[in-house]
Amino acid sequence: MAEPVEVQLDPQPIERYRELLGPGYEEVDVVASGARERLDGRIIWNVNSTARGGGVAEMLRAYLPYVLDDGVDTRWVVLQEEAPFFSLTKRLHNNFHGDPGDGGALGPEEKRFYRESLTDSGLHLADLVSADDVVILHDPQTAGLIPALKQRGAAVIWRCHIGVDESNDFTARAQGFLADEVGAADAVVFSRPSYMWDVLPRGSGVVIPPGIDAFTPKNEPMDKATRDAVLGMIGLGPEKPATPPSFKRSDGSTGHVERAGVVVQETPLEDGVPLVVQVSRWDKLKDHEGLLTLFARDMKNREVHLALVGPDSSGVDDDPEGAAVYQGILEQFENLAPDVRSRVHLVSLPMDDLEENAFMVNAIQRRADLIVQKSLAEGFGLTVSEGMWKARPMVASRIGGIQDQIRDGESGILIDDPRDYPAFAAAIDSLLADPERSRAMGQAAQEQVKSGLLSVQRLTLHYRLVDQLISVLRS
Ligand code: UDP
Repeated sequence: MAEPVEVQLDPQPIERYRELLGPGYEEVDVVASGARERLDGRIIWNVNSTARGGGVAEMLRAYLPYVLDDGVDTRWVVLQEEAPFFSLTKRLHNNFHGDPGDGGALGPEEKRFYRESLTDSGLHLADLVSADDVVILHDPQTAGLIPALKQRGAAVIWRCHIGVDESNDFTARAQGFLADEVGAADAVVFSRPSYMWDVLPRGSGVVIPPGIDAFTPKNEPMDKATRDAVLGMIGLGPEKPATPPSFKRSDGSTGHVERAGVVVQETPLEDGVPLVVQVSRWDKLKDHEGLLTLFARDMKNREVHLALVGPDSSGVDDDPEGAAVYQGILEQFENLAPDVRSRVHLVSLPMDDLEENAFMVNAIQRRADLIVQKSLAEGFGLTVSEGMWKARPMVASRIGGIQDQIRDGESGILIDDPRDYPAFAAAIDSLLADPERSRAMGQAAQEQVKSGLLSVQRLTLHYRLVDQLISVLRS
């Protein structure tokens, strides 16, 4: 097992939000400006299990640069465990979402394996961290580190980004598996109130949803010429540009989109053709299968194209099921009727350069006439805020954190039952047939992001929690 690796972060000026947030900026500014004094040299550590792909990595990149700008020393460390560990934690992940996953057990043997796997990382982190520091551990992969870091004397927060609205035997089993470790944390953070565990001591749960950063290659404004050039580079659009399109990197330098995606399609997507997009990891709980099925079977609009977009399936370190899920989607694609297949595009984006990848996601979301998130379970679903920020109308399942983002009928359409294919199809058909309503929804969606779905707007909650912990533990 390799030692955990630190991810390089560049501070970003929080001041850039002044104009965007208007009067709302004051609160962010006040909280931020006192943070350095309050923390008094303590380091805030974040530990998770992947630096790329997926919502946790995205969320950390969306707010840690602003914490650094506040003068607070914050670090991000990524575990480097072996494949069998990630197979087990993927089972845990699926169970937390109420799903059996690979159907395997979570018994004493798995528990022993889980704890033993994390022993070296725990020792290593306990060496790095000082007794005054605050450590935020993210998701089930890291919960086993809580005892080692508590023993070190640090304040330990466990942040759980996953959960379901209604628990079942699988969620109970997953919670039971981690209960001893999580019970030892000083605080536990959930993305929404319904995710809190009954088994935890009263008062130890706190709700902090994630948010997006408007000023990254993923979310910055993009003109149509650049968008089309990026689509051409990916291979989704019809024309590869003569010169690679450029974007601004977070360190201020200029990046170029130089790689192509792996695109499975009969022909590239012509300009002006209506397009529905879903962006997500290749995870069965994102239900690409259901979306393809309803696209082929239930939608009345036979002009519209569908792009399923995800990271290169080998590109997300802690998600060992991606390649198999992608394979299943590929088979489904091959079995589609020819007139449907000619309107489907499977797009895998390269993960070699994360900012290039982010700019590609940006271009595809901006090319969409409508964005879908047909998940069966969703901790929060940052892709929803990302689509809303681009003023795209959304159609999504009324589950998990998606409900905390889309206002039904105002900034998108929520479908009560994620398995109700005809309802999804009817909602998509109706919005595509009504451009004016779509535009109004898109505008409302963008406004909503501005008024409360941005990462910097969560800073108050973060600092409040850290301040509380420090004062309780050090008194
Ligand atoms: N994503 C990405 N590149 C891709 C596909 C997805 O960066 O090729 C990002 C996506 O834009 C979003 C994140 O992965 O920011 C997924 O987060 P979300 O909360 O939607 O779901 P999770 O993966 O955490 O289940």
